[in-house]
Amino acid sequence: MAIAEATKTILQDFEGGQIAFSKDGKLLDRESTTRLSEFLWTTVDDAFQYSNKHKDTIPTDRSLLDFFLEKIEGTGFSPAEKEACIESCRLWGAYVGDPVERQSLKFFCLEECVDESNVFVASTYERILDHVSQSARQHGYIRFNQPVVKIESSPRQDPNARHQITLTTASGERFQFDEVVVTCPLGWLKRNKSAFAPELPPRLTQAIDSISYGRLEKIYATFPRAFWHTPLTTTPNGPADQPTNHGQPTFAQFFDPVYVAHPEDIPWNQEFLSLAALPPSCAHPTLLFYTYGPCATYIVHKLASLDPSPQEHHAFLDSFLHPFYSRLPGYSATSPDCTPLAFAATQWQNDPYAGNGSYCNFQTGLERGDSDIEVMREAVGPERGVWFAGEHTAPFVALGTTTGAFWSGERAAAQVCDLYGLGKAGIGAARDDSLPSGCK
Ligand SMILES: Cc1cc2nc3c(=O)[nH]c(=O)nc-3n(C[C@H](O)[C@H](O)[C@H](O)COP(=O)(O)OP(=O)(O)OC[C@H]3O[C@@H](n4cnc5c(N)ncnc54)[C@H](O)[C@@H]3O)c2cc1C
Repeated sequence: MAIAEATKTILQDFEGGQIAFSKDGKLLDRESTTRLSEFLWTTVDDAFQYSNKHKDTIPTDRSLLDFFLEKIEGTGFSPAEKEACIESCRLWGAYVGDPVERQSLKFFCLEECVDESNVFVASTYERILDHVSQSARQHGYIRFNQPVVKIESSPRQDPNARHQITLTTASGERFQFDEVVVTCPLGWLKRNKSAFAPELPPRLTQAIDSISYGRLEKIYATFPRAFWHTPLTTTPNGPADQPTNHGQPTFAQFFDPVYVAHPEDIPWNQEFLSLAALPPSCAHPTLLFYTYGPCATYIVHKLASLDPSPQEHHAFLDSFLHPFYSRLPGYSATSPDCTPLAFAATQWQNDPYAGNGSYCNFQTGLERGDSDIEVMREAVGPERGVWFAGEHTAPFVALGTTTGAFWSGERAAAQVCDLYGLGKAGIGAARDDSLPSGCK
């Protein structure tokens, strides 16, 4: 937040403006949407507390969905409302990149975030990146498009001698360093353990294998005008007796639709954020859809298999999103305002340098999630001079985030400074692993 403020980055704290569509594509009334949202976030808070308090005894196969189901049973909701609650809690998938039934309850506490407002970086990370990269650009030697394929280091025989690490790039160039901070994503580490010579120690290898890597993707759909921001007196598909004016929706949730043909074994829940709701200087007539888990994998595989022509991509993405944006208030099949101008879809799962995914998450079956993170933070720095940084080594409260990635870089820099007895001017305060719902 301090860097955002210092760089005059524009932030947006989205409040309200939420709409939701039932499985049969009907817009829920405002009261039901609010009730579902309150249930969702209250239960998430309860689950954080529960996970934090009972981490040592919660069975590894217990999921966040199990916790939700238990809570839902304890409510006086009707069967239809209970079903809507379950659909609503699937939103968690868009936070971590995999379905809620895969979210470990035992290590759910590692998903807790910095206890401040959850802001959207409206003017993009441009100024923040410019700020944090200043020193590296001024004093460093940056090689783009030179992937590292080998990291060779030998344990020191003499504890007073310097480390010696040799990096080999894909083009065969070799470079020597005293210390190396590896910031390759966790997904890359999982697939490239053989890049390290000698082999990484078994406990570190186990930690890399144990923590999962998520499958979150984004699709941006841009229209000539934000037609969904048109105040309406009637909605195209809502029951006649419901409150009809939903104002300017900023966030929409679509429960697993029965009105869309899709692979039977893949839940097709979707959600979007309206970038038209950003402050005027940053607003776009764009819907930002988040896809996750098997649905996201399906989309990126499909995109990779298409003819690379922009028309094919456009047609495929429109066929995927049309069933959803066409449900919005203000939509008219005959209005040019409601026909997308362009789509942009991420394909992190197809990108080896993104680790073929998004960021770390904590899935059922995980046994030592917190200690795995600690082991990755230590890496083989003291013995071999090879340190790890990146979101997967962040303080617990910032795992999987840009803030956490930045803090982890400061932590790795401090570890190297400690080794050489250097001062830490310019490095932010050390962060501990305390969590908002309790202490470590
Ligand atoms: C869809 C999506 C939405 C997200 N939303 C948010 C959000 O709302 N808020 C938030 O805080 N975070 C969000 N994140 C997470 C955030 O983007 C990451 O936590 C952060 O970028 C991680 O930074 P990093 O430096 O650890 O890794 P990266 O940003 O992945 O950087 C790793 C770098 O290493 C390079 N690299 C990889 N392999 C090699 C190699 N062999 N040799 C040389 N270089 C290599 C890569 O090219 C890349 O530049 C989101 C991520 C995704 C995918």
